[in-house]
Amino acid sequence: MKVLEQMQSYGHERVAFHHDAKTGLRAIIAIHSTVLGNALGGTRRWAYASESDALHDVLRLSEGMTYKAAASGLPMGGAKSIIILPNATHQPTEAEARAMGRFVDTFAGKYIAAEDVGVSPQFCDWMAHESKHVMGGNTVSHGGDPSPYTALGCFNSMKACLKHVGKPVDFKNISVAIQGVGATGYRLAKLLREAGAMVYVTDVHVPTVKRAVEELGCVALGNDKNLFAEKVDIVAPCALGGILDERTIAELNCTIVCGTANNQLAHASRDGDAIAKRGILYAPDFISNAGGLIRLAGLYLGMSEATIDAKIEEIESTTQVVLREAGQGSTGAAAVAFAKRKIAAGATKPALQVAGCGSGCGCH
Ligand code: NAD
Repeated sequence: MKVLEQMQSYGHERVAFHHDAKTGLRAIIAIHSTVLGNALGGTRRWAYASESDALHDVLRLSEGMTYKAAASGLPMGGAKSIIILPNATHQPTEAEARAMGRFVDTFAGKYIAAEDVGVSPQFCDWMAHESKHVMGGNTVSHGGDPSPYTALGCFNSMKACLKHVGKPVDFKNISVAIQGVGATGYRLAKLLREAGAMVYVTDVHVPTVKRAVEELGCVALGNDKNLFAEKVDIVAPCALGGILDERTIAELNCTIVCGTANNQLAHASRDGDAIAKRGILYAPDFISNAGGLIRLAGLYLGMSEATIDAKIEEIESTTQVVLREAGQGSTGAAAVAFAKRKIAAGATKPALQVAGCGSGCGCH
């Protein structure tokens, strides 16, 4: 697996592996950067095909968190953690969550855990019994489910994309195809429907599609239909990462790709260039889906509700700046360059407190 070599190539500071004999928990915490401050990033529970797939996932996700925090103007670093499940149907338990909470606590506040795929506010609260460095719960920790804020940020990012391609931003005659109408996709569909957009949806979980059709008036695309080839204004990936590859990029029939999923480009540089060459506007994922991080990090840092709302609103102007800076080139590369500039500028400021949480951080 060559862990250190991979850390070096991604630029990670620290990667820790953990096995809890009592519960069988197997987990990894990856801290990509603490240059700008403590690092907040969700915990993903997933049944990976192999340990190297798991490591690859946590390394890529945590690198993305560094760029997401920096591009959002947050004084935070980037990290992520994963729990390697023995199988896809493995149910979360309090014992598993508490074991993970104890692992999180060994970082003494440099890493702050929260939700990601497979982790609920309840799971966060269970983890928080063992560590005060957890956000995203409703009782023991706080912040709750960040997905409504992620969806709102993505909606704001879509407005910037529409402006960029010269389309009206009122969504009235805009069609959007959403892959995955779970926590973020459903809320994005709701915002789009309320604004008057035509929304097509797919989801591997049939009752989830049914809910979007019945409650929001979305149109279901059968699972035999290829969402990426649909002739729509916007394709919104809100399920899995790595879905923009040579094949799907060649098939795209839309003007814009803008969704909530992390790491949408299967291969960041190759696929970022390929989508730009096709003349399709790709909204960089870590800019568009930063709303949830802004919400939880904002609460952790002690920001007011008004400041947090304004920062989620700012996703529109940040998207606009990055799209402009990209010109005809890769918007993904432009977004990374934008974030790296922010990190370089922040690195020259006095160091932030890294361990524990200071008064006013909001995580007590
Ligand atoms: P979720 O699990 O609630 O929803 C994902 C949905 O996608 C589920 O309904 C699932 O059935 C569906 N799905 C899975 N595979 C699919 C496929 N092949 N085709 C169609 N549908 C499929 O997850 P979520 O919280 O909405 O997160 C979705 C994505 O957004 C993830 O990549 C996540 O990392 C990213 N993200 C989420 C947040 C957040 O606040 N929740 C923040 C930033 C990024």
